[in-house]
Amino acid sequence: MVQKSLVLLKPDAVRRGITGEVLDRFEQTGLKIIGAKLLNAADPEVSHKHYYKDEEWHKKVGELNLKDCADLELDPMDIFGTKDAVEIGRIVNEWLFAYVEKGPIFAFVFEGPHAVEKIRSLVGPTYPVTAPPGTIRGDYGLDSTVTSLQRKRAVYNLIHASGTPEEAEYEIGLWFKPEELISYRRPEEDVYQY
Ligand code: ADP
Ligand code: MG
Repeated sequence: MVQKSLVLLKPDAVRRGITGEVLDRFEQTGLKIIGAKLLNAADPEVSHKHYYKDEEWHKKVGELNLKDCADLELDPMDIFGTKDAVEIGRIVNEWLFAYVEKGPIFAFVFEGPHAVEKIRSLVGPTYPVTAPPGTIRGDYGLDSTVTSLQRKRAVYNLIHASGTPEEAEYEIGLWFKPEELISYRRPEEDVYQY
């Protein structure tokens, strides 16, 4: 069950100077950093491959934003220039590329038992405003689809973490060369032998 997971500290986390606190949450569980890289910004080719989203995602996100527009009595035509959910989702996808291309980005690979699931549970759900306390997004953020659409940008939620082991393998390959990942032992690995 030893897995690897890609973690990106997004521009809002790096700019706010909370990288140490966020990393602490992962490290104190016993998860091991095996790769680290501080970048001015995501390369557009990497951002597009990393945040490639399918039509299902575009539709889901577009419908969410249309609902927010209705609740706020905002005209989606003014914000997106369209009322079509899939089209709106595609625009949000463009905002998402711009978010990580803005930088800075602090990229990490963590390794450990159940690393993917454990990291996602520490990170919390996508929207900080409703992410539960105790999660990174819940404790450090307030952003929502309402604030993001009003500002015509992606939801700022501090951090990216791989969703599945397959996603992790693909994403690690985008951000790191194999020789940039290192190997060592943490004391916990010996403790758990007993
Ligand atoms: P997660 O990061 O929780 O895995 P997704 O992969 O679905 O979530 O979305 C990728 C990123 O897109 C999110 O982290 C967030 O920054 C942004 N995002 C998601 N939904 C919306 C939305 N409705 N409006 C604006 N940005 C969004
Ligand atoms: Mg995701």
